[in-house]
This record gives sequence, C-alpha cells and structure tokens, in this order.
Amino acid sequence: MYLTNACGCFLFNIANFVLNLQILALSVIMLLFEAGVSSSSSGLENQIFQYIDLHQNEFIQTLKEWVAVESDSIQPGLRQEVIRMVELTADRLRALGATVELVKLGSHKLSDGQSLLLPPLILAELGKDPQKPTVCFYGHVDVQPAKKEDGWKTDPYTLTEIDGNLYGRGATDNKGPVLAWINAVESFRALKLDIPVNLKFIIEGMEEAGSLGLEEIIKKENQRFFSDVDFIVISDNLWLSNRKPALTYGTRGNICFSVEVRCGERDLHSGTFGGIIHEPMTDLIALLDSLVDTSGRILIPGVYDDVASLLEEEKKLYEAIEFDIEEHKNNSGVKKFLYDTKEEILMHLWRYPSLSIHGIEGAFHEPGIKTVIPARVIGKFSIRQVPHMDISIGEHQVIKYLEDVFSKRNSPNKLKVSVPISAMPWLANINDPLYTAARKAIKTVFGQDPEMIRDGSTIPIAQTFQNITRKSVMMLPVGAADDGEHSQKEKISRHNYIQGTKLFATLFLEIAKLPGKLQETSNTTTTN
Ligand SMILES: [Zn+2]
Repeated sequence: MYLTNACGCFLFNIANFVLNLQILALSVIMLLFEAGVSSSSSGLENQIFQYIDLHQNEFIQTLKEWVAVESDSIQPGLRQEVIRMVELTADRLRALGATVELVKLGSHKLSDGQSLLLPPLILAELGKDPQKPTVCFYGHVDVQPAKKEDGWKTDPYTLTEIDGNLYGRGATDNKGPVLAWINAVESFRALKLDIPVNLKFIIEGMEEAGSLGLEEIIKKENQRFFSDVDFIVISDNLWLSNRKPALTYGTRGNICFSVEVRCGERDLHSGTFGGIIHEPMTDLIALLDSLVDTSGRILIPGVYDDVASLLEEEKKLYEAIEFDIEEHKNNSGVKKFLYDTKEEILMHLWRYPSLSIHGIEGAFHEPGIKTVIPARVIGKFSIRQVPHMDISIGEHQVIKYLEDVFSKRNSPNKLKVSVPISAMPWLANINDPLYTAARKAIKTVFGQDPEMIRDGSTIPIAQTFQNITRKSVMMLPVGAADDGEHSQKEKISRHNYIQGTKLFATLFLEIAKLPGKLQETSNTTTTN
C-alpha cells in the first residue's frame, strides 16, 4: 500500500508535472502570441514615430513657410494674406489626397462702413470607409497682429529656433497644431500605411476676429458634412504646465454687460454744477461697487443657484494636477490670491463663476486734472459663466439687481443695462470614448497620464460644435503653458511640435481600436 501509494503518488505527481508543463507551454505560447500582437501594434507606432523623428526638420520647414505668411485676420490691409494662407492650407490637404471644398463666406462690414471679403472656410475629407470611425479636426490658420516693434526679439514672421523653441506668430496659435495634424496624416501616407480612421477637416481664417460666418456654416452643414462625423478634435489651447500633457474638458462662458448712466446731453463743469446734481459717475460707481464683495463673491441674488455641484470624481481630478501657486503669482505680478490652496484656485478659475469690472467709457482718464462732470458714462463688466448656468437667466438676474440698487438711490438719471455679447460655457464627459482614446495616446507618446484640465476663458468653438452637431468634442492641446499665444514671444517647442505630431498619429490608432461604430455623443451638454 505504501509503495503503491508512493508509486501512485509518484505517478500522480508525474501526471501533474506533465499537465503543469502543458499549462506552462500553453501559457508561454499565449504570452508569445500576446507579445507578438502588442509588439506588432507598438511596432506600427514605432515605425511612425521613427518616420516623424527622421523628418522633423522638414515639418519645421513647412511651419516656417506657414509662419512667413502674415495671415493677420484683424487688420483689413492683410486680408489677402489670410486668403493666401487658406489657399496654401487647401493645397497641403489636396497633396494628402483629401477632397477640399472652399466655402465662400461673403464679406463683412468694417466700422468705417467699408465692406471686406471674408476668407473662405475649408471643408475637407480624406477616406470614406463606412467601417471606420470618422474624426473631424478643427483649426485656424489666421493669426493675431504682430510687429517687430511690439517688442519681439526675433522677426515675428520668420520662425526662429532658439534653445529648442520655435518663435514666430502663429507657431502655437494655431499653425503649429494644424500642421502637426497634417504631418501625422502625411506620415501614414509616406509609409504607405492604412489610415485607420476617416478624416475630415474644418479650417478657418477668421478665428482671431471672432470666427465670422463659422457658426452658420456648421448649422448649414450639420446634416451633410457633419452627418457621418463621430468625433471632433480641437487643438487650439495650451497645457496647464510646461512639462505635463493635458486634456481639456471644459471652458467657461461669458456674459458682457454695459451699464449706462446718463444725466443729460452734455458734460458739465463741477464749479457750476457740482453739489446740485445727481452725478452719473457717482451712480455708476455705486452700481459697480454693489456687484462683488471683498472675498470675490458675486452679490447678485441667484447667480450661484444653478452652478453644478462638486462631485467626488471631479474633486479627485483637481488633486492630481500639478500647479505651482508661486509661479502663477510671479507670472501675474500679484502678491496674494483670494484663495490659498491649489484646488480652490483652480476651481474658482474653472468651475465657479467670476465677475470682473473692465472699464468706464466716458470717464475722464487722461493724465492731469479736468474738473468735468461727465454726462454719460458706461461701466463695462462681465461674468464668466460655468456649467450649468443659463445666459438669459443670468442677464435677467443682473438687470433686475442693478435696477433695484439704482432705484434705492432715488436718482433722476437714466439707467440702461445691455448685453453686447455672450457665449455659453462648455463641459464634456471625460468618460466619453474619445477621451479614453486620447488618454491612451498621450500615455504612449509622453509616458504619463494627462492632467484633466479646464480653461477659465471662453472658447466658444467647442460649445458651438457640441451644441449644433451633438457629437463628441474634445480639446487636445499640444502647446505648453509658456507658449505665449497672442504675446510678443509666441513659440512652440520643437519637442511639443514633434511629439504633438506623434500624438495625433497615435490618436488615429487609438480611435480605431474603440469598440464598434459609435452613435451620437454621450457628452454632457451644458446648454440650458
Ligand atoms: Zn487660436
């Protein structure tokens, strides 16, 4: 028994050993298979990355050619250059094999009554495979004005590399990112690789001048050009840091107010009328002073009622962000902020409303003394709105409040509150598949997870796309925080431009891996 048992046990052990060997062999085969699969996909990425690295100087040369075009959309005298830039972009897209349509936008009236031709809008597409997802890229090729005498160290229209940074107007806003996307497509083309997504492009030349005519075209094209689009990617903002990549999922909206107080038709002398009249400026200052308290809290009743409540998941996003309060203070030249912690500061920039007073029209602002009583003054302030505040409710609350404050002053002056311009806030669902794909692409290219950020300013384009097309919209910046868009030292680093190209190429691959063809957006709209 003992022997048999021992023998049986031995045999059992052998059988077990063989079984284990088989399992082991199977595991090894499976591992090898998996390794084979992943090495082939990372092999594909490596092949693309290598191509991009090898051709970086050519990509920079193209950016140099683009920056050389003074496509300033603000100065009427440079409109032809904007049109030339749009045509140059169209040529580049045609060279990729894209079908390009130049949509005429007509003309617009300048303040002097002169009418000026608008640059056409580019609608382009490359690939129409119903099995593949369709990604639409938005960008702009116009720039802010720039003159050497504004304080540029280098010629703003000659892309100049200094210490790995490429200085020039439009380098980061937005010619660099537009070209990074085009370079990514070009790399697939040059390597004769199948582009795993269908691509569409919407590229404008009037962004810096308020995107004239764009919204109407998006509405008009919603059932045609946008009908088969699954995802919209915008790359027209910056990271929060100089080193850590970011993904942007929200922007604040804005309502701008004008508060006019008028006493009569002409300005008066304070020696002749001072002391016997209700002065418009005194009324206006009292009105403006009633808007915010010393802690930055907006005093208009109801303003905070609809602000989205802070959820645990969102709170965690703020904790993970690297943000140097001291650096931010130094950049602003301000000694103390209203809040002390990183979380409070970021939340008050991104997810809580703020009210800023911008100026007073009609006030005497020249140096020296003028004993004038202005007859008509207009105070200007704005409220940065956040999800889920409503523009018309906000307008109503402000107008009612100012009228109440004014009526308590028993002033015979005339009060008029108007809203010259407003734009809605935007908020995307960070669990949307598009964000998942972008997170993975960022991890692959930069070796780290992105910071999930919002933008405290108002970038209406994301909300416009989301609101009209109901597609997934994402803002995927490639420029670093210190890129200085609109400033006299605008740049994009060689590193960000080239890694940005890789990021877009990887994004195509990641989007193609998303399960199934997706339906309408699951994004949260902030529309009220
Ligand atoms: Zn821009």
